[in-house]
Amino acid sequence: MLLKDKVALITGAASGIGKEIAFEYARQGAKVVIADMALDAATATANEIVKAGGTAMAVAMNVTDEAQVDKGVAEAVAAYGGMDVLISNAGIQIISPLVDLSYDNWKKMLAIHLDGAFLTTRACMRAMIAAGRGGSVIYMGSVHSHEASPLKAPYVAAKHGLIGLAKVVAKEGAKDKIRANVICPGFVRTPLVDKQIPEQAKELGISEADVIKNVMLKETVDGEFTTVQDVAQTALFLASFGSNALTGQSITVSHGWHMQ
Ligand code: NAD
Repeated sequence: MLLKDKVALITGAASGIGKEIAFEYARQGAKVVIADMALDAATATANEIVKAGGTAMAVAMNVTDEAQVDKGVAEAVAAYGGMDVLISNAGIQIISPLVDLSYDNWKKMLAIHLDGAFLTTRACMRAMIAAGRGGSVIYMGSVHSHEASPLKAPYVAAKHGLIGLAKVVAKEGAKDKIRANVICPGFVRTPLVDKQIPEQAKELGISEADVIKNVMLKETVDGEFTTVQDVAQTALFLASFGSNALTGQSITVSHGWHMQ
């Protein structure tokens, strides 16, 4: 068990990538906090983990809401005694040509991906420093932290921004043994991606099969999707790493779509 008794808060863990990380962390002995704005789904996920023999709780958290973030982290610390790992993972996608994108949608994307990362990092770092046992902050970036695609201006801008944030957290957190890193997955079949396949087909005027083959997986080495388990294993490696040697980095898990 690589995370025995570690307290791990995962945002957006009621679905997709975050949910798989929650299950993997629980199997590795972590006490898992499912932090999601979809409280019913978060509670159902926590219940499933407990039923499978793990330790988990759900907290209601819209990551763009300062008071909810601080309250959710405080509830987790009170229940489980400290904070060891933050996975800042909650996210959405809005597909649009930049010239058609509303200012509201631009701000919404940056709020969830960047404000959410800031607010959860601040609350969790404070708890990690107070507990004095170090910690690991992991951001869910994307290949779009390094590459650009059309129709995704705010997503690409926000995901690039997470790399800068992680580097600052790595520098400021070092004295308290807090590490910060970014995971950069390629396309993973989750509700977030399933929703955008027909949207991209419409915007680009091509079939859904072509979106998958010639847009999403075109640059991979083998035409395959990355899986939620691939990302969960990367999150396990980062959280369980034993020293400050691995900090301020981004790790791409994308079937070779992006090579660093
Ligand atoms: P998903 O839609 O399956 O899950 C996202 C979760 O985030 C949902 O449970 C949702 O309720 C929650 N959420 C959304 N807005 C929130 C908010 N404001 N506050 C709290 N929770 C909120 O998506 P996913 O594919 O698992 O994506 C998770 C992360 O991985 C995102 O940051 C996404 O950008 C990133 N990512 C996904 C892929 C992919 O191909 N699926 C690739 C690279 C990166």
